[in-house]
Amino acid sequence: MAKYENLIPRFLKYVKVNTRSDPNSTTIPSSPRLTAFAEHLVQDLQAIGLTNVHINQQSAYVYATLPANTDKPVKKIGYISHFDTADFNSENIQPQIVENYDGHSVIKLDAAGKYTLDPAVFPNLKNYAGQTLITTDGSTLLGADDKSGVAEIMAAMEYLLAHPEIKHGEIEIGLGPDEEIGTGADHFDVADFGADIAYTVDGGPLGQLEYETFNAANAQVTVTGTNVHPAEAKGVMVNASQVAMDFHAALPEHDRPENTEGREGFFHLYSMTGDVDTAHLSYIIRDHDRDIFEDRKKLFQGVADQMNQAFGSDRVQVTIKDQYYNMREVIEKDMTVVDLAKQALEDLDIKPLIFPVRGGTDGSKISFMGLPTPNLFAGGENMHGRFEYVSEQTMERATDVLIKIVELAEQQA
Ligand SMILES: [Zn+2]
Repeated sequence: MAKYENLIPRFLKYVKVNTRSDPNSTTIPSSPRLTAFAEHLVQDLQAIGLTNVHINQQSAYVYATLPANTDKPVKKIGYISHFDTADFNSENIQPQIVENYDGHSVIKLDAAGKYTLDPAVFPNLKNYAGQTLITTDGSTLLGADDKSGVAEIMAAMEYLLAHPEIKHGEIEIGLGPDEEIGTGADHFDVADFGADIAYTVDGGPLGQLEYETFNAANAQVTVTGTNVHPAEAKGVMVNASQVAMDFHAALPEHDRPENTEGREGFFHLYSMTGDVDTAHLSYIIRDHDRDIFEDRKKLFQGVADQMNQAFGSDRVQVTIKDQYYNMREVIEKDMTVVDLAKQALEDLDIKPLIFPVRGGTDGSKISFMGLPTPNLFAGGENMHGRFEYVSEQTMERATDVLIKIVELAEQQA
């Protein structure tokens, strides 16, 4: 019998429910189907035997507590994951189980074989020889991002309740909506949650531990032109589209996503529209280093200022909004939260994979609310689309890690 008997059945039950978040909504959560799923989670968490199970009104997160079974002053550890899924077909999800995968065959997702998991295209498949993979049927995403995290956290709590010989402090659970539309963590209620340190269980393959993210800003550029008949344009016309192109050309050519990797930041033009009268450019600005991030924003604004000076009027309007910051800034003040996870991985013979994330996590926001929150692997591969899959064995290992962390925290207290 499996060590965590409800882990995979619960995961399969959850992924079949459509919990796609709605990027066009202004409500919290973004869709009534997320409210319905949250209520379902409340029942399941109560059935497991957790206490203080409730939906936090401010954030629509489901919170629950596993009380301590020791008198030692152990730090309260929080585990967080999200139950919404990405912007991809989530209707009628039919997970497929591939038992004892050989690590080299091409897996047909749909019956006709239109969509396949091919190790030539997805080389990570080679890491899963001998394991059981859960895939899609090619028509939807799977939702391992992040229902694997949800199922792992619940399996870990169930295991701890069944094994009181494993001593631990109080554990706080937070299962939230709307991570995929980037708003879920904005309303996270740190006080109600009550943890001292926390982990999002939302990473990818076995061993991933992330405590460094980008600093991030969104920048919008609006150019106002002067539209006259081209025949009589000399010295009069200011073509907004041309000015927009000049603006973009003034940014450092190397610093684009397609030219950068590792710790290199960038300016990413993700949308442009324009005619002679008006043009609009949308960018994201990213850098791991806070000072360089600030310099990037200054450079961006500086290009506009210079152009406006040359025009003698403010034709180029720039609005820059910070989105999130590198959580390392918060976490490195007290590395306990990282050290615990690293040691848990090592104790379980899992090689820690620690790299700076070229993106953000819910933890990037939550860490800046005062709760240091790195990201642990949950197992998913190829997230956000039809090629998503997860290994049962990785999900079991992730559950092992969650248990080991609270065990170590108690031993070290
Ligand atoms: Zn996720």
